[in-house]
Amino acid sequence: MDNKELSGGIKRRAAELGFNICGITGARELTEYGERLRAWLDAGMNDRMGYLARDIDKRTDPGKLFGDARSLVVAGLSYYTGLKQKDPEAPRLSRYTYGTDYHDVIPLKLTILLEWIQSVRPGTEGRAFCDSSPITEKPWGREAGLGWQGRHSILINREIGSFFFIGILILNTGLEYDSPCTEDHCGNCRQCIDACPTGAINDNRTIDARKCIANLTIENRGPVPEEFIPKLGGRIYGCDRCQEVCPWNRDLKLPVTPEFEIDGEIAGMSLGDWRNLSPERFSRLFSMTSMRRISYEKFMSNIEAAIKSVQL
Ligand code: SF4
Ligand code: SF4
Repeated sequence: MDNKELSGGIKRRAAELGFNICGITGARELTEYGERLRAWLDAGMNDRMGYLARDIDKRTDPGKLFGDARSLVVAGLSYYTGLKQKDPEAPRLSRYTYGTDYHDVIPLKLTILLEWIQSVRPGTEGRAFCDSSPITEKPWGREAGLGWQGRHSILINREIGSFFFIGILILNTGLEYDSPCTEDHCGNCRQCIDACPTGAINDNRTIDARKCIANLTIENRGPVPEEFIPKLGGRIYGCDRCQEVCPWNRDLKLPVTPEFEIDGEIAGMSLGDWRNLSPERFSRLFSMTSMRRISYEKFMSNIEAAIKSVQL
């Protein structure tokens, strides 16, 4: 099987595994991204995410993560669903938290894809990544032609919008490569910047994590700072506001990825259920979701802050 046939086969197999989009690019060092990242870090915009300042070379050079890196398969899996929480007064979850933790779902699919590649091209080696290593997904998504980084910094694809996870498979074999996405389809739009409750979106397509609700409710392990509580709008884990207002996410007609369907019990939780969530119920309901990343104490503190935010 030559590179062209194998590349076509990889995309077909990725689609069978449920990925909505898939592109392929050659491995190289993303020097231009490294410079942007350093400037962002120097400005302190990573807040307490000190890990982002480590291993910058691995973030920008796949060869530093996987010695024989020659190609990257970059695949997107939609987590889009309509809003599913039934009680309108209940604190709100970000859509990407619905269902099974994507850190488990995507590497498994990529491993199955790798096994298929190895069956048709013996000797191929690879490593799968999804938000679990230094590699930076968004610039590689652009390199593989999946889309462009919108003003809110998130990758947007013309067909499926921006509510998708990105997984990367680094391979030691050559393939046929897609053209990078060099176009910017934001045009004059600034809706995400205008709608952000905390003014966290910079003018250069980066986010100031010190102000971003997604960071303040997840990565920042302390309580949400008092000055941001009135801006939470009832959110307890993550924030979708900048994506919700984006015209590229309007009228999405995508099948819901079954793994990311919300659990019926979580969807039905009332305001009182959230307020009285016990450690045991927290553990039972969320141990398979991406919300297991934060402690029960942080979660309860977020719930309190979210409830307060809609009462102010
Ligand atoms: S996730 Fe929310 S707080 Fe963060 S940049 Fe987007 S709209 Fe602003
Ligand atoms: S809301 Fe407008 S500016 Fe923001 S990412 Fe979408 S298209 Fe771009």
